[in-house]
Amino acid sequence: MRVSVSHMGNIYVTIRAWAHGLGRSDSLIVPPANSQRTLSLGTKYSPEGLCLPFKLTLGNLIEACELGADTLVITGGDGICRLGYYVKTQEKILRDLGYDFEIIQLSLSRQRVFGLLKLMRRLSNNASWFKVISALRFGITKQIAMDKIERLVQKVRAVELVKGTANRLYAKTIEAIDNADDYRTLKKAQRDYTDQLNHVAKDTQAKPPIVGIIGEFYVVLEPFANLNIESELGKLGVEVRRRTFISDWGKFSFFFNYLGLDETSKIHKAALPYLKRDVGGDGWEAVGEKVLHARDYDGLIHLAPFTCMPEVVAQNIMPSTKENIPVLTILCDEQMNQTGLLTRLEAFVDLLKSRRRARNKA
Ligand code: SF4
Repeated sequence: MRVSVSHMGNIYVTIRAWAHGLGRSDSLIVPPANSQRTLSLGTKYSPEGLCLPFKLTLGNLIEACELGADTLVITGGDGICRLGYYVKTQEKILRDLGYDFEIIQLSLSRQRVFGLLKLMRRLSNNASWFKVISALRFGITKQIAMDKIERLVQKVRAVELVKGTANRLYAKTIEAIDNADDYRTLKKAQRDYTDQLNHVAKDTQAKPPIVGIIGEFYVVLEPFANLNIESELGKLGVEVRRRTFISDWGKFSFFFNYLGLDETSKIHKAALPYLKRDVGGDGWEAVGEKVLHARDYDGLIHLAPFTCMPEVVAQNIMPSTKENIPVLTILCDEQMNQTGLLTRLEAFVDLLKSRRRARNKA
C-alpha cells in the first residue's frame, strides 16, 4: 500500500510523524511541495471555474499517483460549499487520467478524532490502539510546536533588522521538527529555535502596523496559494495575526467541540447584525472577524479563492458594516502574480500607516 494525501501548509510534517509512529514511513508518499507544475496540472484537469484549493490538491494527487501512490486520502466536507464534491470529482478526474487507486474519504468535521484514529489503524494494518494513539499524539505535538514557532515568526518578521532572518530560521525549525523522532529532540528543536528567534536583531523602536489575515481556510494556510503573503507583509514591516492554525482547529474539532466549547460562536455572534447564518466555507467567520478586530488591528487582508461563493458573500457584506477598519480582499487563483500582489500590499500598508499618523495627531 502506497498512501498519499494533498498538501496544506506544513501538515505534511504531522502526517509524516503519524506514519513514522505507526511504523509505516515506507508506505507514505508525500507529494512534491506545491509548485507551478502542481498548479498547471490541477488547472489543466479541473472543470473551469473551480476554486484554487481544488486545483492545487488535485495537482498534488496527480503528482502522488505519478510517484506510485495507490491509496489516496481525500478530505471532504459536509458544508454547503463545493468541498462536499471534491472527493467524487477528483476521483473521476484521476480515473479518467488512467490512474488505478483506492480512495479513502475523510470527513474530519463529521468523523472527528475517531474517524482519524480508525483510518490510521486501518492504514497501519491494525496496529495496537496504544501505538495508534501514541502516533497521533506525537504528530499533534509536532503541529502545536510548528504553529507556536510560526506565531513568533509573524512578530519577528515585522521588526527584524536583516529581512529574511526569521524566514530562514523558520525553514530550519520545520526541518528540525520534521526530523525529530522523539519528544526530547522535538522539545530541544523547539527551544533552540525559539531562543534564536528571540535573539534576532530587531528594531526596538518600531511599532509595526498590525494586519489580520482572514478568509478561506486553505488559502490562508497554504503559502503557495497566497504567494507567501505573510512573508511579503513582514518585509514591509507589518506584523501579521491570524486565528486559523491547524493545531487550534484540530484542538476544537477533535476535542473541545465534544465538550460544548465552540471557538467560532463568539465570531458568529459578532457577525449576526450583518449575516445570520452559515454560508459555507469560512464566509461567516470572515464577517465576524471584521467586527471583532475593528479596534485591535490596523487592517485586515481577506483571502478568498476566486469563485468561492462563501467568501464572495463575505466580501460583499464587508463594505456595508459600520466597523471602521480597512479590508483588502485578495482573490487567489492561478492568474495571481507576485508583482501585482506586492503593488497592492504596498498601497494598503501606506494607507494603514497614514491612518495611524492621522489618529496619533488627533
Ligand atoms: S470554501 Fe470556497 S474555496 Fe474552500 S472548498 Fe468551499 S468553495 Fe472552495
